[in-house]
Amino acid sequence: MPDECIFCKIAKGDIPAEKVLENEDVLVFKDIHPAAPTHLIVIPKKHYATLNDIPQGELAVLAKVFGAVQEITKKLGIAESGYRTLVNTNRYAGQIVFHLHFHILGGRPLGTMG
Ligand code: 5GP
Ligand code: ZN
Repeated sequence: MPDECIFCKIAKGDIPAEKVLENEDVLVFKDIHPAAPTHLIVIPKKHYATLNDIPQGELAVLAKVFGAVQEITKKLGIAESGYRTLVNTNRYAGQIVFHLHFHILGGRPLGTMG
């Protein structure tokens, strides 16, 4: 885990974030610059820089991430109206924070993907 990783620091509680769900493996918190009425960030607590960096033997972490997505979207009442889950990987996708994370966007119609 790189010392300078901001999402590792959030997972450890070293810097604050508005946490909305937490379990042993996964943390969900509000994005600091929301692009929708509901904009959450879902992270595995274990550091992987990108989606490319999960070893084959650790892909079960994705089930834990999506379990948290199901749980929090239901809890916040956006599961039925709908939401978008996306992950940016590396330069062309505009990844800024190199700790694997999934965005949840909801609370308004989101349009089609460009
Ligand atoms: P990406 O790497 O997928 O392009 O986006 C990273 C996301 O993390 C951005 O939407 C950005 O607003 C959010 N973000 C970056 N730094 C922080 C932070 O310190 N706290 C929170 N809550 N969100 C952050
Ligand atoms: Zn990290």
